[in-house]
Amino acid sequence: MIGLLGGGQLGRMMIQAAHRLGERVTVLDPDGQGPAAQIADVVITRNYDDKKGLDQLARTCTSFTTEFENVPAESLRHLARFGATRPDGRCVAVAQDRIDEKRFIAACGVDVVPHAVITRLEDFDDLPASLFPGILKSARLGYDGKGQQKVHSVTEARSTWSAMGSVACVLEKRVALEREISVIVARDLHGEMAVFPVGENIHRNGILAVTRVPAAIGDDLAEHARQAACRIAQTMEYVGVLCVEFFVLSGGRLMANEMAPRPHNSGHHSIESCATSQFEQQVRICVQKPLGSTALTSPAVMLNVLGDAWFKSSDQPSEPDWQAVRAQPDVALHLYGKSDPRPGRKMAHVTCLGSTLPQALGRARNVADILGLDVGDGLA
Ligand code: ADP
Ligand code: MG
Repeated sequence: MIGLLGGGQLGRMMIQAAHRLGERVTVLDPDGQGPAAQIADVVITRNYDDKKGLDQLARTCTSFTTEFENVPAESLRHLARFGATRPDGRCVAVAQDRIDEKRFIAACGVDVVPHAVITRLEDFDDLPASLFPGILKSARLGYDGKGQQKVHSVTEARSTWSAMGSVACVLEKRVALEREISVIVARDLHGEMAVFPVGENIHRNGILAVTRVPAAIGDDLAEHARQAACRIAQTMEYVGVLCVEFFVLSGGRLMANEMAPRPHNSGHHSIESCATSQFEQQVRICVQKPLGSTALTSPAVMLNVLGDAWFKSSDQPSEPDWQAVRAQPDVALHLYGKSDPRPGRKMAHVTCLGSTLPQALGRARNVADILGLDVGDGLA
């Protein structure tokens, strides 16, 4: 039995992959009705740091994994005494703190965005002017653009920092993005690595809206990004599925933005478009089966469906027209089983395949029209 900390959609898709391999999963989640709990073999409805819950998990499972970023690293460290944690608490802790994360990535020889660490008021003295306009990001607990504020001057940065509760932050230079890409790498206990094709990500309001695969970048840049992700995984002695997000600047300059110690939203397409999905790799690593091939079997476009799609015609939520989506060719609809649609909440995703990327994009445009999705120029 695999023990999973967390109950969201990533966990749900991991369980679906586990079931296809004949494996069983116990979910520990305070919400016993969430996306993962709905299809788990066993559900423990307790907090992630609840001693009784962790003990039950420890007694019944041989390996442990997680599906959300802010799982208490301490719980993973505790579980490590009873079985294999994939990934372990040490790696999760690094990825949970933007200060440690940037320090670690830079130590791997991978460029990061110019930034300063802010932990005290004095840290605002002598900040280089080149960091402005910038973005002040809380070091911990940020996701989907939360815990970040644009700042244009030292004075504004100081007052924004106070308003954010004077918590530890990084102040990043706002760089001109030519595009955003991500690399997902699976690394097993023996150090074998399987790297997924580079995805190109389009965000709206700090939330991923579209992933296109393959990314429209040259082979050299793609290889550079894949090698950087592998170097990070290897240096960390990471065991599990790791996503590294990168910014591409003009001239093809690459900078790592952040990493996620788990399957990632930008890898959802792999369920349909790759020989082995990111979720299956995670299961394979947990049960010590060899990694599968990450070969791209079809170009793909993934569309995130946020709760906004429920509020197109009125203030009262109404179910989007799934039948019309399903009627499209080569389109896979993944509903996460969340009962409460809210604007900005990830409710579902749709993956559109095509024999070429333009064909997949055409299908994605039809789906985005049906659902009224805000994709910016993500499908151009
Ligand atoms: P989160 O943890 O919310 O994903 P990120 O640091 O990845 O936080 O920021 C979310 C998005 O905001 C990025 O994908 C990118 O589009 C934009 N962004 C973040 N930092 C910068 C930056 N330094 N310069 C330009 N855009 C940025
Ligand atoms: Mg991000």
